[in-house]
Amino acid sequence: MGRRSEKFASVFIYSDELANYEYSSTHPFKPIRAKLTLDLCRRYDLIERPWIRLIKPQPLNFEELAEFHDETYLKTLQAIDSSATAKELWPDVSSSRKEDSLTLDPQILQYELGTDDNPIFSGVYDFSALTAGATDLGAKMVASGEVQVAFNPVGGFHHAARNHAEGFCYVNDVAVTITHLLKEGLRVAFVDIDAHHGNGVQDAFYRDNRVLVISFHETGRGIYPGSGFENEIGEGKGRGFNVNVPLPEKTDDEAFVRAFEEIVPPLLDAYAPDMVIAELGADTHIADPLTHLSMTNNGYCQAVKTLAQCAPRILALGGGGYDLYKTARSWTLAWAILNDLEPRDEYVGIIGGMMFGPEIEVGDLYDKTVYTTGIIKERINKEIDRILDFVKQNVFPIHKIH
Ligand SMILES: [Zn+2]
Repeated sequence: MGRRSEKFASVFIYSDELANYEYSSTHPFKPIRAKLTLDLCRRYDLIERPWIRLIKPQPLNFEELAEFHDETYLKTLQAIDSSATAKELWPDVSSSRKEDSLTLDPQILQYELGTDDNPIFSGVYDFSALTAGATDLGAKMVASGEVQVAFNPVGGFHHAARNHAEGFCYVNDVAVTITHLLKEGLRVAFVDIDAHHGNGVQDAFYRDNRVLVISFHETGRGIYPGSGFENEIGEGKGRGFNVNVPLPEKTDDEAFVRAFEEIVPPLLDAYAPDMVIAELGADTHIADPLTHLSMTNNGYCQAVKTLAQCAPRILALGGGGYDLYKTARSWTLAWAILNDLEPRDEYVGIIGGMMFGPEIEVGDLYDKTVYTTGIIKERINKEIDRILDFVKQNVFPIHKIH
């Protein structure tokens, strides 16, 4: 039975302004994925429904961002941006390599701005404030009960710290929004299936039991940010409220789904949050150029289905995903699942698929499942068993899960 009742309402948060920002022509993070996703959702008849609204976000103001972020850091980011053309001020910034930028203002380096990962581009502050505004808007609408589902594809900047940029993230929209929700007295669960560990969100609430943070990601042994191991379970009051499931390289759908199903439903059930924020990064895909997992959108969709069942009120965020078309497909499927719809190609055979990549990727949104086999799969299963045992022994008892 579907989740859609008569009162069900959802919102897709989008504006061309937000999608059109560009870090640089060569930077892997592309906000335009949001437009590709909306186009694909339209093609699959997932937007024009009576309960679905498409809403434009507004930026958060300085004070709202400063409820989480360090003011001096924000002011620096703002100054760089409002001097508009960063290029005029610091001619080398956008093109310089990290080691070359040592000649720059040391303050900027301290904030990890002007690096390969976090270039200074025109509009960087406004972009960041707008992404946080989009996430905050979705959270408010879900928290108030106006909608049960919200989706902000250009959200989930989970690496940004209170006082510096990191990993393509300048402002941590997740931490800013959770800070606002906590002020309202809400209990929040953050479930992150992006391929990278959400270190910024983990650090923000590591000693807090009002936020349950659960992250599934490729192990930090071989990939940025090098954190997110199973023994990082929170401290003080927050002990047991931070859960990491680091996945070995080449983890496939089957292994991921098994881990997800054993960890997420019991924890969400026990914690009973007022709302769930889900970071649905699509960079776990086998085709993703920045990661080493072997998942397809089938495993991804299973996780989204489980989340939709466990969380009656959910704000979904896009996160990473560096194969543009694969990411648009994954997010389109996630949007369909959250709205309890079956995607149906409205234009099949009528127009070409140029906008969405090769036509072969359009007719059916679902991938063919890929299985890791042999000794590698055995090792993956063993490692996942070890991690699941650790979480069940060290975290589950804190939540009285037996
Ligand atoms: Zn990622």
